[in-house]
Amino acid sequence: MHRNRILSTIFIITGLFLVFLMLFYLKEKEKPEEEIKQEEITEPEEKSIYEGAVVVVDPGHGGKDPGKVGTAGTLEKDINLLIAMELKPLLEEEGITVVMTREEDISLGNTEADNVKMEDLNERVRLIDGSGCHLAVSIHQNSFQDKSVAGPQVFYYEGSEGGETAANVMQQALNRELSVQSPRSIKANGDYWLLKKTKATLVIAECAFLSNPEEEKLLNEEAYRDRIALALKEGILKYLDVSFSSEENVIY
Ligand SMILES: [Zn+2]
Repeated sequence: MHRNRILSTIFIITGLFLVFLMLFYLKEKEKPEEEIKQEEITEPEEKSIYEGAVVVVDPGHGGKDPGKVGTAGTLEKDINLLIAMELKPLLEEEGITVVMTREEDISLGNTEADNVKMEDLNERVRLIDGSGCHLAVSIHQNSFQDKSVAGPQVFYYEGSEGGETAANVMQQALNRELSVQSPRSIKANGDYWLLKKTKATLVIAECAFLSNPEEEKLLNEEAYRDRIALALKEGILKYLDVSFSSEENVIY
């Protein structure tokens, strides 16, 4: 009799446990999909492969120096800054540390000095070399007497292997992303102050011609500037991939 009671108690407890399990299962199954998705999103993200990479973004000119002026009056310094500010978050999304030479419409260095332009350029050199960057990208717009000349072109310091690699991948990305009809080739230069004076690997990206009315119009459109920023990002990522993949001591 006593044994039977113990057995039936065990039987009831097991039964209740099974019912509880079934209810729990049904409740989990009913959970809305969104809630489950939310749980997935909050899981820790994987570390970016670009974590630790440092890139300088240098919007050319600014403040007292407008740079090139378009036929409709567009100032190069404004376009350069807009593209640079669009590029910055695109790189940060990838885990890259971005150092900006300017984020406002200003001249760099001592603006009271006799040669403001030299002051500005030397301050850029100081910022770029002081950043310990893996790559510096100077953003500019071109100009030429012949108004029909158009398209992006990337410059690098003559003899710089890293500069040539960076210029190549950047040029390809710009040609592809902007669907350039007659693509230009990269160009070595030994005279530009920034290229000559910086120790860092630096490229100058002339994104378009302000002297070309069609390109000037495009540069005033946010969607086109977004495409330029995207191309510059692609070029930068490609350069980081190429330059570090073959090295034994991976910097980042
Ligand atoms: Zn310029």
